[in-house]
Formats: sequence, structure tokens, C-alpha cells
Amino acid sequence: MATRSRILGTLSSWAALVADERGAGAPRRRPAELAAFLLVHLDWLLCHAAAGDFVEELLDTADHARRSAYVKPSLAKDLGRCVHPGCERPLSPVPAAGTKGVGQVRCAAGHTWLPHQWLALMRNLRRERRPGRSEGAA
Ligand SMILES: [Zn+2]
Repeated sequence: MATRSRILGTLSSWAALVADERGAGAPRRRPAELAAFLLVHLDWLLCHAAAGDFVEELLDTADHARRSAYVKPSLAKDLGRCVHPGCERPLSPVPAAGTKGVGQVRCAAGHTWLPHQWLALMRNLRRERRPGRSEGAA
């Protein structure tokens, strides 16, 4: 949410500058419309005295957005199939809010496991992968 708000803030402030100085009607405060508006006026913006600030701010915002969306590759691996009875959807790690760590494991159908349940989940996954073996064998 913070990242979206930052993107929106950056695009709107530059769209407002273009609208003011060019007398163009400002677009609605939506990312796609603001970006399209800025693209239409891009050549003009790049000749503006503030072009350096514009480019720098866009790069900062894009970099921030990329970092916010980044999930460690080691966390993005396939964990297997959901062990909930009747559900076989793929499991994936979900980052905890505001961190790069995993907050929960969730299947595509919405079954979730919090950290204190991961050991039990792991046992269930092992049992699913090696049917016929007894649990205490390892
Ligand atoms: Zn499931």
C-alpha cells in the first residue's frame, strides 16, 4: 500500500506540473491514466528545467517498488501440494508484512499455515511424498 501510494504521489505531482504549465486537463488520480498522460507529454517534460528531477524521482520510485515486490529466490521455490484433505493446490511462501521473511505458507485455495504449524506441515508433506513409508523411519 505504501509503495502504491508513493507511485501515485510521484505520478500525480508530475502530471499536475504538466497540466499547470501546459494548460492540459489533468487525468484522474489513477496510476495507468497518470502514466499514459505523462507519456503523451514525455518529450516536453524531458526538455523542462526539472527534467533531471523528474527522471531521478521516477528511477527512485521504480527502484523502491522493485525492492518492495522482491521475494528472495530461496523463498519462492515450490513447496509441494497442499495437504488439506481434498485440496492439492500448490503451496507457496507468503512474505510477512513489511519484511522479506516468510509470514505464512499458503496454498492457492487459501489454506494457510503459520510459523508454529510449519513443523507439522513438513511432516505431512514428507508423508505425502513418500507414501508407504512410516513416519518414524527417518
Ligand atoms: Zn489447500
